[in-house]
Formats: sequence, structure tokens, C-alpha cells
Amino acid sequence: MKNKKTIDYLIIASSILLIFGILNNNKSLNLFSFLALIIFLIIKNMKKNINIHLNRISNINKNIHKTNSKRTSLDKVQFFKEYMDSWLQEDYNIFSNEYSYFDNNCCPNCGCVLDNKILSSKKCPECKEKIVLRTNKITSKKLLLSEKRTLEYDKHDGKRSEIIYFENIIAKRQYVYNSYMSKFYELKSTASDPRNVVYPFVNYVGSQLDSDAYKKYMKIINLSEQDMALESFEVIRQFNLANMQYFLLAEIADYKGHKDIALDIYATAAYRGVQISILDGIANPYHENKTIDIMGNVFPGMILKFLNKSGYSLEDFKRNFLQNRHPFILKQISNEESWDYVCDTIKLYKDMEAKR
Ligand SMILES: [Zn+2]
Repeated sequence: MKNKKTIDYLIIASSILLIFGILNNNKSLNLFSFLALIIFLIIKNMKKNINIHLNRISNINKNIHKTNSKRTSLDKVQFFKEYMDSWLQEDYNIFSNEYSYFDNNCCPNCGCVLDNKILSSKKCPECKEKIVLRTNKITSKKLLLSEKRTLEYDKHDGKRSEIIYFENIIAKRQYVYNSYMSKFYELKSTASDPRNVVYPFVNYVGSQLDSDAYKKYMKIINLSEQDMALESFEVIRQFNLANMQYFLLAEIADYKGHKDIALDIYATAAYRGVQISILDGIANPYHENKTIDIMGNVFPGMILKFLNKSGYSLEDFKRNFLQNRHPFILKQISNEESWDYVCDTIKLYKDMEAKR
């Protein structure tokens, strides 16, 4: 900031000297101040360019850092929203003239005010050039474009569709929550004992999320690798949410004293956790299947705590785990291999506990 001011003062000073030299017809002062002015102007421009360049680099770094750091799904939604808003503003700024042509009923080619309000694309009665009427898909605001600008405007349409797609996802989330809550109130009003509501409710939520995720997965399965990686975020999130319900179900069963049911659900949930991680790796080639990531889907701490408290051994859990586990969506890996992953997460969990 200080440097910028100094260079501005130097430019002003050399301009004054130049004017002074011209007024007094002093040739050497003229030459000196003219050269100084040129040099200072060049320096100022260089500084500006360097700053623009540095800003670009720091923005890129920030973005890379953002994409690498672990974000929760809520953070991601927030990130998309901010990203969308800034892009929408940029898009609006680029075509702000074209919006005002419509508002003022002007031809975008010659600027003349038209007699009738334009309701569809047509030729200008004055300049005979084409006037194109477009409606912004997102804001429903109308704009008038020349033929050349129409091409530029339409180039942005892919991005506008993408934004609508993400907005739908975000809006749907609100809707899904409401539909769950009406199910909850329905169960609550018919149950004789309110304590019996929780288990069927969690079960309902889990199966809804599962079937949603499955439908989404079938939709993205034939996409290109890159598109699939992009879309898989929502699918995996949904499966993870569904799996959280399994862990909840196991906890409720345990709380109600149904130890055998709890054991079975924990084994199911752990199996699903491994399968979801593998699925994530397949759908998203940029993801590695690290034990620490799988651990987040298996929750070995919860399982160990349950086994310890209920008197089951790890062998009991293993036996249950290997029995009748249905392949999850795809036949990715065998039950035995899945069990190896669970053992890895348990080992990692125990190591981390020991260090604490
Ligand atoms: Zn015109």
C-alpha cells in the first residue's frame, strides 16, 4: 500500500516538473522529467501486473488447499453455495447491459428505443439486425442480446444448468427432512408406547436413504469417469447417512437389551461401512482407500465398546460378520476380505487409543 502511494507521488511530481519545464521552455528539465515519468509509469504498471499475478497464485493455492482439506457435507454445500453465488454475480455483471436493454426496451445492436415490448426474438425495425430474447434459467430475468452476444451468453448455459442441479440437491435435502418428520409424527401418533417409535423410525430413515442412494448410483454408473467422480459425492454421502442409521439401530437394540440383534446389526453396519469405502474408491478414482477413511465408516470404537460390555468376543463378532452378508450393490470384495479391512481398522483404533 505504501509503495503504491510513493509511486503515485513520484508520477505526480515528475508530471509537475514536466509541465514546469514546458512552461519555462527548459529542454533539459523537460527531458529529465519526461524520462522520469515514463520510468515511474512503467514501474507502476509492472507492480500492478505482479500483484495481479500474485493474487492469482494465492487464489489457486487457496482453492487447492480447500479441495484437499477434509470437508463435512455441510461445508461442501456451503462451499457450493458460495461458489454458485459468486459465479451468478459474475455472470450477471458480464451481461448487465443486456438486462438493461430489456428493461429499457432498447435494441442491443443500435440502441434505439423500440415501440413495442419485445416478447420474442425478432429483427430490429431500425437497424434490421437480429434481437434475441433470452430468459435467465436461474433468475427468470429477461435480457436482449445481439447475435454475437447470444453466442457468448449461451456458452454459459452449461454452468447455469449445473447450478440448478446443485440447488435442487440442496432444496431436496430440506424436502427429505420434512418427509422423515411426517413419518415420525405418524408413527408417534399410532404407537401405544412412544418408546417403540424410535426403532421403526430409524429403520425407515435407513431404508429410504439406502433406496435413494441405490437409485442415484444406478444413474451415475454409466457416466464418464470424471462425471462419475463428481456425482459419486452425493451417492456416497447418502450411503454413509444410511449406514449411520444402522449404527443407531444397533445402539437402540443394545439399549433395549436385545444383545443378539445388536450384534447382528453392528456386523451388518461394519460390513456396509467397508463396502461403502470400496465403492467410494471405485466411483472416485481420486480417492484412495486408506484405513483411516474406512475406519470412519466402520466405527471400530463403538463395536469394541459394545462387545466388551455385552460379553461377546471378537470371534463371536467375526462369526456373525462372515455369515450371510449380502454383497452390497456390487460384488466388490468377499466377506473374508471385508473382514480383513475391519481388522485393520480395529488395529488402527487400538494403536490410536494406546497413544492417547
Ligand atoms: Zn437496432
